[in-house]
Amino acid sequence: MKLKRQLLGVFYASAVAAVLAGTVVVYQILTPAVLDFEDAAAHRELARVEGAFLQTFSTLYARTRDWAEMKRVETLVAGSSDVVPMVPGESADNLRIDKVVIFSESGEVDWLRGQPEQQDGDVSQLYQVFSERACYPVWGVTTIAGQYYVFAMHPVADCGAALFAIALDERLSMELSGITGLDFTLRPAEAGSDRETRITRMDGETLVASFPVMDYLQRPALRGEVSMSREVFKRGPPLISALAGVIMMIALITATLLYVFVQRRVFRRLGALHQAVRGIAQGGDLSQRVGVDGGDELAELATDFNAMIDHINDAQQSLAQASERAESANRAKSLFLANMSHEIRTPMTAILGYTELLELSVVNEEERSRYLSIIQQNGDALMALISDVLDLSRIEAGQIRVERQVCHLPRLMKDVLNSHMLRAKQKNIALTLQYSSSVPKEIVTDAFRLRQILTNLVGNAIKFTDQGGVSVNVSWREGDSAGLHVQVYDSGIGIPVSALPLVFEPFSQVDESHTRRFGGSGLGLAIARQLSRSLGGDIGVTSALGQGSTFTLTIQAGVESGSALVLPKDALAVEQKSLKLPAIKATGRVLVVDDNQVNRLLVMRILDRAGFEVSEAENGKEALDCCVNENPFDLIVLDMQMPVMDGFEAASALRERSYRGPILALTANVMADDRRRCLQAGCDDFLGKPVRAKQLLNSCVRLMTQLPVTSGSA
Ligand code: ADP
Repeated sequence: MKLKRQLLGVFYASAVAAVLAGTVVVYQILTPAVLDFEDAAAHRELARVEGAFLQTFSTLYARTRDWAEMKRVETLVAGSSDVVPMVPGESADNLRIDKVVIFSESGEVDWLRGQPEQQDGDVSQLYQVFSERACYPVWGVTTIAGQYYVFAMHPVADCGAALFAIALDERLSMELSGITGLDFTLRPAEAGSDRETRITRMDGETLVASFPVMDYLQRPALRGEVSMSREVFKRGPPLISALAGVIMMIALITATLLYVFVQRRVFRRLGALHQAVRGIAQGGDLSQRVGVDGGDELAELATDFNAMIDHINDAQQSLAQASERAESANRAKSLFLANMSHEIRTPMTAILGYTELLELSVVNEEERSRYLSIIQQNGDALMALISDVLDLSRIEAGQIRVERQVCHLPRLMKDVLNSHMLRAKQKNIALTLQYSSSVPKEIVTDAFRLRQILTNLVGNAIKFTDQGGVSVNVSWREGDSAGLHVQVYDSGIGIPVSALPLVFEPFSQVDESHTRRFGGSGLGLAIARQLSRSLGGDIGVTSALGQGSTFTLTIQAGVESGSALVLPKDALAVEQKSLKLPAIKATGRVLVVDDNQVNRLLVMRILDRAGFEVSEAENGKEALDCCVNENPFDLIVLDMQMPVMDGFEAASALRERSYRGPILALTANVMADDRRRCLQAGCDDFLGKPVRAKQLLNSCVRLMTQLPVTSGSA
């Protein structure tokens, strides 16, 4: 059953129950009250009747006294006259005297009126009581010849007496009924009848109230009874019923009004809320809102509901955005895989193709050198790509460690520019460097990472510019944004404003055609931004399609104590560090330890050609065996991952056996941790595979001549 109907039922049921309960209560309270009221009314009426009855007594007594005190009555009682004075009731006087008796001084009875058939002792007995009471007046009720009378006996002369009596019969009752307007009757008193006034309810219609009538000796003789109609009592129940009916009507109307109110203020609003909830449950529009009407609980519910919809809406939108992002990331990864495949296959095609050409065909010296150069360039490109991917995975795994070294800023800037100069020239665009403020000569930062970021920015600028040029502006700021600021401007193809936030996302390129046109994997800027953040700065970009781009790099670099600020012109005039190594003195004994024969042979060949005396070992154990003599080798080039005994164990063992010569770790594991482990095991330097001949020789010579290690060996 619906709540609405239940509530309606409850309203009506409680209204009826309340009215019924109220009626019972009212009935219980009113009934005794009505009975009390009835009693009081009966007592009042009875008092009136009693009063009228007593009035008859007193009138009778007064008449008797008046008559007895008449002179002629005295002579009559004394027997001196036979003239009977007029007795009341014989004239217009309405008091009817039924019996008139006179008594002589000696108690002889003379009936003047109403003598009964038989003389009995009733009146003689009265005279006896009269004389016993010293001939004082006597009155009351008595029986004369079996009939009740009300009498008064008054002395005449000394102890004569006159007696008047009125019959207590139907007639008197009727007279009293006429006077009081009540139905009055006299009944003989029952034996042992009490002397109390009594009220008896005969039925729902009639009530009988009675009072005792005593004889002259104060014994109960009669009861005067008044019959009364129970008007008030009879009217009570209909009155209560009418009252209950009216209250019931009022209660029902109130219940109905209450229901209408609840329907409007509660159910209608609940209905709207329900509609909204159902709409949403059925996957409806989340933008709908429920009206908030007033400030009651339902209004609060509506407000909370709206807030909940807002949250769901927000959550759905976030979910949709997250899903969109995930999809787009997925698309980007698929695209990346396609790009990677392209990026790998392109140089690999060149490498394999030209290698095959060299192998199969007879080529002259010039062609051979050109093919080798192509193979080398493509190998480098492949290596750069692998480095990018590794860098990104390291960054995402949080494994990037920033090192702090002193770095010559003007020289580093010049190096970066110079390394791109050739490419700029090939594209026939300008590449310029300028300083807009004095800069510290030496800053403390991770020079390798800074160079990597700048290389990416300048490289991109040149890559995406076909006309005009690229200019790099360097400044040093103090205060809040203290540190190095480098802006790279280009007049290239530009980036649509909508794509600006994307360019720093991994694997994303503004236009898929960029891969085909310009190459690249979409990783450079993502790596550059992460690196700049790890250096305490960031990279920002402003650009518009077709209008060139400006990338701004900021990093928080320290200043080497004592390092002077150099003016822009002095910074520009700085000489590039000579990359020339001291003349390589390629003499000495070198042990090459590597389980991979091809790599081992390559390294041996490079060193051998450079003039070193080279020995080989396949694993760490063999290397240890080769070192039985004290310091037999001037350098050991050690692969780290080998069967039987790896490089770490071998390095430790060599150091334990007091081998003091330099050990150069050469490994394909190029993470920072690997580098640290190598150094901890006792190696002096670390080179990542694949290694270039020049790089290998530089490291070997440096270690053998104990030159300081420069950064960038990884
Ligand atoms: P990529 O290896 O593809 O160059 P990057 O992360 O370095 O990867 O750059 C991401 C994309 O940002 C590029 O593919 C290119 O679409 C856009 N981009 C980067 N630098 C520039 C620039 N200077 N001018 C125009 N577009 C650029």
